[in-house]
Amino acid sequence: MANLILILGDQLSPQISALENANPAGDRIVMAEVADEAGYTNHHKKKLVLLFSAMRHFAEQLKADGWRVHYHDFAADSEYKSLEDVVAGQLTAQSCERVITTECGEWRLHEQISQWHTRLGVPVEIRPDTRFIAGKKEFADWAEGRKQLRMEFFYREMRRKTGLLMTADGDPEGGHWNFDADNRKKWTGKPAAPAPFRVEPDDITRQVIELVNRHFADHFGTTEDFHFAVTRKDAEAALEHFIDYALPCFGDYQDAISDTEDWLFHAILSPYINCGLLDPLAACEAAAQAWYSGRAPINAVEGFIRQIIGWREFVRGIYWLHMPDYAKENRLGNSRPLPWLYWTGKTHMRCMHKAIDATRRNAYAHHIQRLMVTGNFALLTGIKPEEICDWYLAVYADAYDWVELPNVLGMVMHADGGHLGSKPYAASGKYIHRMSDHCANCHYNVNKSTEDDACPFNALYWHFIDRHRDDFENNPRMGMMYRNWDKQSPDRREALLTRAEWLLDNVENL
Ligand SMILES: Cc1cc2nc3c(=O)[nH]c(=O)nc-3n(C[C@H](O)[C@H](O)[C@H](O)COP(=O)(O)OP(=O)(O)OC[C@H]3O[C@@H](n4cnc5c(N)ncnc54)[C@H](O)[C@@H]3O)c2cc1C
Ligand code: SF4
Repeated sequence: MANLILILGDQLSPQISALENANPAGDRIVMAEVADEAGYTNHHKKKLVLLFSAMRHFAEQLKADGWRVHYHDFAADSEYKSLEDVVAGQLTAQSCERVITTECGEWRLHEQISQWHTRLGVPVEIRPDTRFIAGKKEFADWAEGRKQLRMEFFYREMRRKTGLLMTADGDPEGGHWNFDADNRKKWTGKPAAPAPFRVEPDDITRQVIELVNRHFADHFGTTEDFHFAVTRKDAEAALEHFIDYALPCFGDYQDAISDTEDWLFHAILSPYINCGLLDPLAACEAAAQAWYSGRAPINAVEGFIRQIIGWREFVRGIYWLHMPDYAKENRLGNSRPLPWLYWTGKTHMRCMHKAIDATRRNAYAHHIQRLMVTGNFALLTGIKPEEICDWYLAVYADAYDWVELPNVLGMVMHADGGHLGSKPYAASGKYIHRMSDHCANCHYNVNKSTEDDACPFNALYWHFIDRHRDDFENNPRMGMMYRNWDKQSPDRREALLTRAEWLLDNVENL
C-alpha cells in the first residue's frame, strides 16, 4: 500500500515521525508552499525566506537520499491554495491509499487535518511529534490534579527524564536546580559580544528572496542581509558557533539589553530548532558537554538548558492543554487596539524604537526585549491580547502558534490568569534603565514620572497597578507594589494617573 507522507515547513528533520518505517521505493513525500499558510498572517519577509529556502533544501536532500518527493513551489496564481488542495491533487495523481503526517504545531491547522479523512476519502494517520521531550499526554498527566502549574517543577522532571546536568546519584550538577540569580548582569560593552553566525545566501535562497520580494512586498520587515542557516549542516554549525563564542557569557548577560548590539550572547537557535533543522536535545547535550569540559560555566549552561527543556516544553504543554479556548482569554479585560508604532518603530521611546527596529531588520529580538520592552508596553497600555499576539506571530522568524501564544498571551499579557508567571511582568522605566543603556540616549527622562518629558513607562506602570487593584492586590508577590502605591501622597498619585491618562490618549504619538 503506497502512502502519501506530508511534511510541513516546521518538520524539516529526517527523524520526523511521519517518515518512520516509510518505504522510499513505494511511498511518496509531499511538501508545499501554499498561499493559505504563507499569507494567513503578515509573516516577516525573512521568516518566509527562511522557511521556503529551508524547505527547498530539505526536499533536495530527501531526493538525494532516494525519496520520491513532490514539491509544490509557491505561485500566486496556483489553483492549489491550501495544503489540503495539494494533498488531494497528489492522492489522485499518485494513487496513494493513505496519508501520513506528524502532528502540527497549531490548533487551526490541526483541526483542518483532523477532518481530512472525511473529505479526502482515505485514512489520515497523524503521528506524535517525537522531537519534543514531553508528549502532549505526558504533560497533561503531569498537570492533572495540580492546583498551579509551575515551570520550575516541570523542568526538574525533564532534567530527571533526560539526565541533563544530573549526577549519578540523581542530584542536580552544581548543587542547585537553577542558577538564575547569577544571570542578571547589565552589559557595559565588555566582554565584546561575538559576531552572529552568518551564512551567505546560495542560489536557492537568492531565488526565494526574489520570490518573497515579488509576492510578499507588503509584508513586515526586509529580506536585506539575510544570513540565517537554511540547512541542517549550517544550523549545526550555528550551534557550534554559539557554544564556542556566546555560551560562556550567555548566563551572565541573559537579561541585558544593549543600545548597540542586536544579538549579545543569545543563541539565535530558535528559528532552527522550531522548524526542525536542529534537534533541541542535541543542542542541550552540546551545552552540557561544554560545562563538563570546562568551556562554559554552570550558570550559563543550566540557564540555556532550562530555556529549552523547561520553558520551551512547558509552553507547548500549556498550549495543547488549554486550546482552543486559550486563544480567547482576556482576563484583564483589555480593549486597546495595537498601536501602529509596533509596525513602524516610529516613537521617541528609545527602547521601543530599538526593539522594533531590530525586529524589522532581523526577524529577531531577544527574550528580554520581547518580554520587558515591547511586551511590557503592551501590558501597561492594555492592548487587546489577540492583536498583540498576531503581531508577535508575524514578526519573528521563530514564531509558531504553539510557542508564541503562551509566551505572549500568558507570560506577557497575563491574560490567562497566570499559567506562565505568578505575577505579571509589569515594570517601570527603572527596570529597563537597570538592564540597558537605552535611557541615556532617549528623548524621555527615566528619572521623571509626571513631567512632559518623563519616561512613559513610569506613569503607565502605576496606572496599571491602580487599575488592576482588584486583580492583584491579594497576590502575595504584588503586596509591596500596592503598599508603595498607597504610601504616595494623594497629589502625587493623581499627578501620575493624569500623566498616564494623557499617555494612553496619545499612545500613537509618544
Ligand atoms: C513575548 C514573547 C514572545 C515569544 N515568542 C516566541 C516565539 O514565537 N517562538 C519562540 O521560539 N520563542 C518565543 N519566545 C521565547 C524567546 O524569546 C525566544 O525563544 C528566544 O528569544 C529565541 O532566541 P534565542 O534562540 O537567541 O534564545 P536564547 O535566549 O538564547 O534561548 C535558548 C533557547 O531556549 C528556547 N527558549 C527560551 N525561552 C523560551 C520560551 N519562553 N519559550 C519557548 N522557548 C524558549 C528557545 O528555543 C531558544 O532558542 C517569546 C518570548 C516572549 C517573551
Ligand atoms: S527613558 Fe523610558 S522610554 Fe526611554 S529608553 Fe528608558 S525606559 Fe525606554
